[in-house]
Amino acid sequence: MSDSPVLRSLPGQRWEGIDLLDYKPSGSAPFKSISRQVLIGDDTLACELRYFEIAAGGHSTLERHEHAHGVLVLSGRGACLVGRDVAPIGVQDLVRIPPWTWHQFRADPDSALGFLCMVNRERDRPVLPTESDLEALRADPAIAAFVRP
Ligand code: MN
Repeated sequence: MSDSPVLRSLPGQRWEGIDLLDYKPSGSAPFKSISRQVLIGDDTLACELRYFEIAAGGHSTLERHEHAHGVLVLSGRGACLVGRDVAPIGVQDLVRIPPWTWHQFRADPDSALGFLCMVNRERDRPVLPTESDLEALRADPAIAAFVRP
């Protein structure tokens, strides 16, 4: 990472000196068409600021964990599941994900979805749903229509 205090934005939701990374190691969890950039990851901070971009039709992992997330949508359109709420999201919407809450993000079929995500630097690993967790979630038709396990 560059030593300059200012990292200029670049076309295509990129930033100078910031690597474009895989969302997660491939095969470690179900997901589709997401990239990750760690925008602020300074050792002296207790949190990290990441930028995720989900390509049209893609989705993040359905998961939960002890740590919380704070999300700000920067570009595009999509939807999210947080707990038992499914909601459309767009530019400048905020999404707050409390500890141990099931969550998943999806881009619309015709739009990418880009968002900032603030998270603790030191955090527990995400837990994936069991078959019985999925069954319980799918008892709600809105959630059943949304989730991509
Ligand atoms: Mn998460």
